[in-house]
Amino acid sequence: MDEAADIQRFVLLETLRLAVPMHMVEMRHWSPAALSAVAGDSAETVGSHGDALQFGGKHCAEAFNALARGLASTALTAWGGVTWQGLHWCTVPDCVGPDGDHPNPFPELVKPAPAPRPIFDLHLPDPEAA
Ligand SMILES: [Zn+2]
Repeated sequence: MDEAADIQRFVLLETLRLAVPMHMVEMRHWSPAALSAVAGDSAETVGSHGDALQFGGKHCAEAFNALARGLASTALTAWGGVTWQGLHWCTVPDCVGPDGDHPNPFPELVKPAPAPRPIFDLHLPDPEAA
């Protein structure tokens, strides 16, 4: 990577380091459906204008905000948060990162694991013997 790309990446990550938590605070009481809608809209915007993040242009701010809001809404809904480009956001205060302890936010929804299916060896007839 050249120096300009390194600087551009540094600026993107440092601004996301600020913007994503700000959006998380704004959206922290939103319903999962509303957060999911934000994530979907953000993915669409980043998908169609993501090149503006790299090359600039009139959609650069829109793409950046969509990326930050998408990461924030995902961090608020996904068990374990979200990790992108080495940055991690989640709902666990003082989280150490993606490998940190992320308790299940919805333990009532966890179904017990089903019993394993029985396994039988089935011996097929030898085609040479027929
Ligand atoms: Zn975390």
